[in-house]
Amino acid sequence: MEKLKVNSDICIGCGACAATYPDIFMFNDEGTAEVIEDQQVQPEDIVEEATGICPVGAISSENEEN
Ligand code: SF4
Repeated sequence: MEKLKVNSDICIGCGACAATYPDIFMFNDEGTAEVIEDQQVQPEDIVEEATGICPVGAISSENEEN
């Protein structure tokens, strides 16, 4: 299991992540995506696919233990 996160300094608000995984990503008041708090930890295959969706590389992951 890995923990997903979005770098809001890089996110361009394209919506691809929230369109593909509406249960995991949402938009905040600044118009950038963030990971819904109780959905941050996901299986590695989901994490891999979700990080690959972002056109600017704003989605990353870290080991759950961190
Ligand atoms: S796919 Fe990337 S750039 Fe687009 S909204 Fe999600 S985090 Fe932001």
